[in-house]
Amino acid sequence: MTPGMRNLRQAVRAELEASSGARRFGSGWISGVLGLVLGLAGLALVVSMRFPGALSMPELRALHEFARFRLVIHVLLVSAFGLSLVNLALRRNKLLGVVGISCALLASLLGGSRAHGLVADPTPLYLGLDFFVLNVVFTGFVFVPIERLCPRDRDQSMFRSEWREDLFYYLVSSLAVQVLTVLSFLPAETILAAVSFGGLRAWVFALPFVVQLPAIMFFTDVAQYWLHRLFHRVPLLWRFHAVHHSARSMDWMSGSRMHVVEILVLRGVTVIPMIVLGFNPAAVNAYILVVYLYSTFIHANIGWRLSLIDKWLVTPRYHHWHHGLEKAAIDVNFAIHFPLIDRLFGTYHMPGDAWPQGYGIGGHPVPKGYLPQFQYPFTRPAESSDSV
Ligand SMILES: [Zn+2]
Ligand SMILES: [Zn+2]
Repeated sequence: MTPGMRNLRQAVRAELEASSGARRFGSGWISGVLGLVLGLAGLALVVSMRFPGALSMPELRALHEFARFRLVIHVLLVSAFGLSLVNLALRRNKLLGVVGISCALLASLLGGSRAHGLVADPTPLYLGLDFFVLNVVFTGFVFVPIERLCPRDRDQSMFRSEWREDLFYYLVSSLAVQVLTVLSFLPAETILAAVSFGGLRAWVFALPFVVQLPAIMFFTDVAQYWLHRLFHRVPLLWRFHAVHHSARSMDWMSGSRMHVVEILVLRGVTVIPMIVLGFNPAAVNAYILVVYLYSTFIHANIGWRLSLIDKWLVTPRYHHWHHGLEKAAIDVNFAIHFPLIDRLFGTYHMPGDAWPQGYGIGGHPVPKGYLPQFQYPFTRPAESSDSV
């Protein structure tokens, strides 16, 4: 990266991380952030439409032919342009507006909503750039307003410490969606090719969808519970899982922080048995979407009092306790959906209306940054203990 680009990146970051006074309504900060996000999203989507074979997920590639999808791109770029203009009009520091407009203009020069593929598919391999954009924009637009309206920590900005790391986790797991999917499902195909399950698979497949989905959620949560406890108990496994626990702020982005080895093991233990047992792929895919949104919800900076349901369903306060720094929060609340599992096995912890005082691991042994965190489990443990 050239020094000019580095300076620009640092200046944009400083604007995004502006103090609360400089972010107030009417200062042009909100329009600047929205203009920048929509401009970058529009530019990335147009680039993925220009190089569909390399940068677009096949399921999303089919969308390119729909007029409505192209209308969405058009509205995205016009909104980015308009919001960036508001930023230029309202704010003394016009950097976010200038970058937002530049992204929208560049996207338009590349064809905008009328962009078409430039080259034939070079290989069957692809990076899910459009998946990343739609994933982050959709999830952000669902959860950011809720976090702003009902925050658990009112002082926590969207651009809190380490937000770039967590966004990078989103980027990597979205870009690598093809590799992760193949590695997740390949073992199931191998098992099915080798073993016959008689009539069991047909019986499970014939169950109604409304039975299959909760059944998958329950069985995967039991499997996840014991795997999760193992990840806390076995020192080598803990070094992988410590990456997830290293987040010092909880919000809609922090759940994405997970070592790729843990992602693959977790999927192997949860999704593969469901496919092997014969659950309808539609129910398994619905579960994957549910668990993704649910996981985002329980990590979010949402301060809702949900005392009527939090005995039966995992809520943000329930999972926040799993990430708590204090002693009482160590090795509790392993379930992702059903607190009943923690109750059954003696790891339930929900003290009154209290929330943890802080998040992370005592002593904060995990380094900062995606690459150091990727390497962390493979490096020799430091002298000091990294137990929670
Ligand atoms: Zn854990
Ligand atoms: Zn978590």
